[in-house]
Amino acid sequence: MLGRFSLGLLFCFLICAQAPAQDAAYQDHLASNTRKLVTNLRPLLRPTLQAFEASILDDIDFRIVPDLIYQGLARRIGGKRVVIIYSGIPFMMEVLSNSMFVGLQGKRECYERHLKSSLETFVYNSDPNHQANKRPVFHPAAYANFELSCAGAEQIFANMDARQRQVVADFIQTSIAAVILHEIAHHVLGHVDNPPGPGMSPAALERSRQDEDAADRWAIRKLLEMKMSLLPTIPYLLMTAALTDYTLEAERASTHPLGARRALGLLDNIAVEVNKIDPDSPVVGQVKDFRKVLNNITSPQN
Ligand SMILES: [Zn+2]
Repeated sequence: MLGRFSLGLLFCFLICAQAPAQDAAYQDHLASNTRKLVTNLRPLLRPTLQAFEASILDDIDFRIVPDLIYQGLARRIGGKRVVIIYSGIPFMMEVLSNSMFVGLQGKRECYERHLKSSLETFVYNSDPNHQANKRPVFHPAAYANFELSCAGAEQIFANMDARQRQVVADFIQTSIAAVILHEIAHHVLGHVDNPPGPGMSPAALERSRQDEDAADRWAIRKLLEMKMSLLPTIPYLLMTAALTDYTLEAERASTHPLGARRALGLLDNIAVEVNKIDPDSPVVGQVKDFRKVLNNITSPQN
């Protein structure tokens, strides 16, 4: 439950996710909702920050770009602190969250197959060599046209009640929030001003991996301090698992830890952080379960 962090039903589900991803109005819709998310996240984040961190947050210019690129970036541009989120990020979160919902409704095979197919398509589309020839990504309901195990998924979405819509909205919003926090972390932790260097030396690679891990840990800790549930960050973890080596931060993509390993590491960090705060939290068990799913869908032999 997000509780204090509800933005209403800002993201749409069945209809929007079936709209062509390249549709300009749809890109604008994704970008505009992500802007609202940044606005609503700020006052929740601020009280958890030390004074110097808060002043860094105030300096950041958030640029939400309606373009279907699967990227978030933290940079200094012209001396100014900038975080750039492309609308490919909320698009991925919508698709993956809808997939999670199908799984929560008991259609396990459809869920795993749709997740795997969507993630593979995101990776394919992220490859710089495939920019002119991107593949379509399908909503789970539309995926039923190709995948027998997804038969009936359309009814599941057509019959969603308000609570179920909120569950999916929580997945989408919390996962986008995790990306935003990860990029803020690069500013707060000094990575933007002290980059590991452009070289691909083993030392620079190692520094970069450490920076990514530190930014992930910071983001997770902030979500916990804002009293947000970590379970809805699963789409973020999936995206991390699939795309880290491609595009999350394109210039340093190849220096990120191997995607699946980074996502599994993130899950372990979540378990550690949650355990510090509440050892009896159901999240500890949920993380263990999800670790198994993540292993299944990211292992190459599947
Ligand atoms: Zn990063």
